[in-house]
Amino acid sequence: MKIQCIGAGPAGLVFSILTKIHNHHHDIVIYERNLSDVTTGWGLTLSEPILQQLANIDPIIVEQFRLHILTLNHVDIHIQGKTIRSSGQRLLAISRLKMINILRKRAQDFGIKIHYSSSLEAEDLINPPTDLTIISDGSNSKVRHQLKNKFNTHIHEGKNLYLWLGTSQLFNNNFNFIFEQTETGWFWAHCFKFEENCSTFIVECTYETWIKTGFSHMDEKQTIIFLEKVFHRHLYGHPLKINDICREKAYWRRFVSPISKYWHHDKKVLLGNAAHSTHFSIGSGTKLAIGDAIVLAENLKSCNELNSTYLTHYQHRRESESYNLHIAARNSQSWFENIESFISNDPLQFSISLLLRSGRLSSDELSVILLE
Ligand SMILES: Cc1cc2nc3c(=O)[nH]c(=O)nc-3n(C[C@H](O)[C@H](O)[C@H](O)COP(=O)(O)OP(=O)(O)OC[C@H]3O[C@@H](n4cnc5c(N)ncnc54)[C@H](O)[C@@H]3O)c2cc1C
Repeated sequence: MKIQCIGAGPAGLVFSILTKIHNHHHDIVIYERNLSDVTTGWGLTLSEPILQQLANIDPIIVEQFRLHILTLNHVDIHIQGKTIRSSGQRLLAISRLKMINILRKRAQDFGIKIHYSSSLEAEDLINPPTDLTIISDGSNSKVRHQLKNKFNTHIHEGKNLYLWLGTSQLFNNNFNFIFEQTETGWFWAHCFKFEENCSTFIVECTYETWIKTGFSHMDEKQTIIFLEKVFHRHLYGHPLKINDICREKAYWRRFVSPISKYWHHDKKVLLGNAAHSTHFSIGSGTKLAIGDAIVLAENLKSCNELNSTYLTHYQHRRESESYNLHIAARNSQSWFENIESFISNDPLQFSISLLLRSGRLSSDELSVILLE
């Protein structure tokens, strides 16, 4: 089959590589709107099960990831001058750029052509010269938006605002949640080291706090200076940085969750975040994208001519496999959206509630200590 992918993110790349591994006769081309060696964001958390699943089909790619993966041993929660540590939740962290570059190189090794600086739109898909188009252009997918009546898509926008930053402050080898109170409301950061000299630092606040603080009148530089002051006790003089490779992504955003009734229409199929997404506070969006790619590639394994039944199977399987993850993500997102009503509670009680928020961990599995 001739296949084109819109978007060289984890979903489009993993799908293309695995499809080639299953059947090297497929002819695959990827269109990516950004330049090569460019991606949004900073570091990601991953979990061992999804790496294992991927390694079952492509052990080489996972070996290459592992060269750059760091292990986060504990979760540390900093609030009201106290630090509470939860043990037993081992996470893996990797640079998003390194992961994408490994995948792009691997795709090219399989003869998959990636056209950079090539943004596709729905009108480019009228009479495409291909048998199948993979729409893997992320949660704000322009193509899905333009064809939304075909996919019957509903967009859920989060209430809070977030900013995905990086910093040279390396914290420790743990995942850190930092909560800071200001005159205009609470700010918190989800942060962790993901490579030797860099950490991810995602700042979040409620819309009310965002308005009261006056961010709508602050430029990028003023915003960063303000946030460095808010978190100064944890940054030890290290600056906060925007991803200047892709500056337009630096501003405050609301988290977007698309929900589509139909994941495919007339030789076009949604994949990864273009189909569905999970709130960043459970760090599983890439796992979701890779999981979609594995299943779609598997469904097309024995398919030399496109039959929509394969695509329907893919949708049903992924909807059911990701059901619990979506519930956990919604619980977690809503916990952070309602935080102002319980953030002033006792720090230990608050931390336990934070750790149990998604419903994936039970109180019996929790091991929590007050460090200081
Ligand atoms: C703040 C934040 C933190 C996160 N942290 C984590 C984490 O710790 N762990 C985790 O697993 N996940 C995390 N995620 C989620 C993760 O980044 C995504 O779920 C994952 O990247 C989805 O992969 P994708 O390939 O579907 O989409 P994307 O990674 O968004 O890739 C889409 C690609 O399509 C390209 N594109 C867009 N439009 C077009 C067009 N018209 N034509 C051509 N190309 C186009 C884009 O440039 C991009 O390269 C986080 C997300 C956010 C917002």
